[in-house]
Amino acid sequence: MKLFTGILDLIFPVVCINCGNSLVTNESILCTICVVKLPVTNFHKDPDNDMAKALWGRVNIDFATAFLYFKKAGMTQQLLHQLKYRGRKDIGINLGNRFGNQLKENNFVSTADYIIPVPLHKSKAKSRGYNQSQLICEGLSEVLSIPVCNDLARISFTDTQTRKRRFDRWLNVSEKFVLNQPELLEGKRILLVDDVFTTGATIEACCQAFKNLNNISIGVATLAMATN
Ligand SMILES: [Zn+2]
Repeated sequence: MKLFTGILDLIFPVVCINCGNSLVTNESILCTICVVKLPVTNFHKDPDNDMAKALWGRVNIDFATAFLYFKKAGMTQQLLHQLKYRGRKDIGINLGNRFGNQLKENNFVSTADYIIPVPLHKSKAKSRGYNQSQLICEGLSEVLSIPVCNDLARISFTDTQTRKRRFDRWLNVSEKFVLNQPELLEGKRILLVDDVFTTGATIEACCQAFKNLNNISIGVATLAMATN
């Protein structure tokens, strides 16, 4: 196996996603120099962070954090682009691992029962072949030893079975999220995971699916938060 990997390295040299330098043993995705430059937010240390504030008064959550700042033409954009559009599934797992290590000591995360990915739109899941948020969850799960729960589903009003929901359409809701087995999550502490936080609209829509559950405690963790 090692020989095989060695031959592959000769054909496709493994390079740092950010700077293009060759990676050495024990480096993956990014070289050590670029790892140091990752624009981490450290939101997990501040309950009144910008992401939590953006959700105040909109959803009832107990914890919100993002791993990285996402700025135009920055390192995070490159990582997310490769993850979402270039088939680099390993980036989702790898950054999920790094994010998980950062959150290990956090009070909310260390006592969470489930990690739940924001599901992709069905057509996108089909064309891309994978859900990047699912991969981030798997990376988090490996490090935190918290199971991933795939009970949250996304329904779009272009689906035939929901096309008739005129009232929802009138309310200008183009899609919504539902739980397949809501009772599974009653009394639980969950960590909802997405790739990028922008306006918070997706998180808000997801939380609608949890709103009638008893004693549920929700935390939100995204790989990145967009900033101007
Ligand atoms: Zn580098």
